[in-house]
Amino acid sequence: MKGRKQLVVCRCIVMIALIGIISPLFSSVEALADEYDPQEAGHPLRVAAYLLHPVGVLIDYALMRPAHWLVHQAPLDSIFGHESKTSGPSAMRNG
Ligand SMILES: [Zn+2]
Repeated sequence: MKGRKQLVVCRCIVMIALIGIISPLFSSVEALADEYDPQEAGHPLRVAAYLLHPVGVLIDYALMRPAHWLVHQAPLDSIFGHESKTSGPSAMRNG
């Protein structure tokens, strides 16, 4: 009998935890979704932006970020004149 009560209490705790985890997900979906605006969404520049944005992200990750990492390295940063914006050994060396 005591084990059955513990099982019921344990199930209640699990259910409360699941409700606490799941309910904010459903309530925030509506808040995050922006409204569809047919005039803005159908604009030719908006369509072009939808198509070009992944290309820009691809160029950023495949080309620009590796290039930045490369000129961030020790002898290359002084050759290419890279100045670090973060504090650290490289920033202290560059002054
Ligand atoms: Zn940098």
